[in-house]
Amino acid sequence: MRFCSLASGSSGNCMYLKAGDTAVLIDAGISCKRICEGLAELGENLCNIKACFVTHEHSDHIKGVGVLMRRYHIPVYATGGTLTAIALSDRQDVPRELMYELVPDREVTVGDVRVMPFKISHDANDPVCYTISHGSTKLGMATDLGEFTDYTLGHLANSDALYVEANHDKNMLMMGPYPYQLKLRIDSSLGHLSNEACGDLVARLLSSGLKTVILAHLSADNNFKELAFQTVRQIVGEAAAANGLEIPNIVVAERFSNTEVFEI
Ligand SMILES: [Zn+2]
Ligand SMILES: [Zn+2]
Repeated sequence: MRFCSLASGSSGNCMYLKAGDTAVLIDAGISCKRICEGLAELGENLCNIKACFVTHEHSDHIKGVGVLMRRYHIPVYATGGTLTAIALSDRQDVPRELMYELVPDREVTVGDVRVMPFKISHDANDPVCYTISHGSTKLGMATDLGEFTDYTLGHLANSDALYVEANHDKNMLMMGPYPYQLKLRIDSSLGHLSNEACGDLVARLLSSGLKTVILAHLSADNNFKELAFQTVRQIVGEAAAANGLEIPNIVVAERFSNTEVFEI
C-alpha cells in the first residue's frame, strides 16, 4: 500500500491511497484542479480513482466532491448524514447514483482495498474516520475528532501507519485571536485533537508494527509544525521507552502540497 497526503488542514484535506490495482481518495476538500495537480506529481490521474471516501461535510473535506462526481463520475462513499449534507450543500445537483451509503463499523471492499468506517466525535452530521486495509497491511486515520475513546483505539489498533490530527497547541488556542465561542468549540469533545491529545492517542497505539505517524490537520493560527512534532515526539518517545518499543517515524503533513509517498 502506498499513500500520500495532497493537502491537510482547515484550508482543505485530501489523501491519495493505492493498494494492489485500486486507487482511492479520502476526502476531497480542495478544488478538483488542485487534486489533479497533486495526482500528476505522483504520475496518477483522476480517471484511475475508483472511489472517494468522505469523512464529513465540512467544506475543508468536500470542496471538490461535486466536481469529482459530475465531471469524473467518481463514486462517493460516506454515511447517510454526510451524503445528505453533501447533496444540500452543493449548489448544483450531484448524481445520486454515484452516492454509496456507509454504515459505521461495517467494512466495505472496493477493488483491492477494504475500508472500515468508524464513528468520531465531531460537530458534523454522522462523521466517520476510516481504516484502510490491504492484505495484512493497515492504515488508520483519525482527523477532526474532539476526543477519542476505547472504541476509537480499538479500530486504530494494529495499524502499520497512522494519519492523525495534531490540530492545535492548547495555550496558543486559548491565548490566540479566535472568538471565545470558537475557542470553546475547537477545544470541546466535538472539536479537534490538541497536540497533547494526539501524542496520547499515538502512545496508546504503539506497537512493534507501527512504523509511520503522519501528523495532520494542523491549525494555521494555533499551531506550527515544529511545535506539533516536538510535543507528539516527546509523549510518544516516553511511552516507547517505557514499553521497550522503537519510536515510529513521525512526519508532519504539508498544508498545501504533497507529502512524500509513504509505502507500508
Ligand atoms: Zn476539517
Ligand atoms: Zn470538521
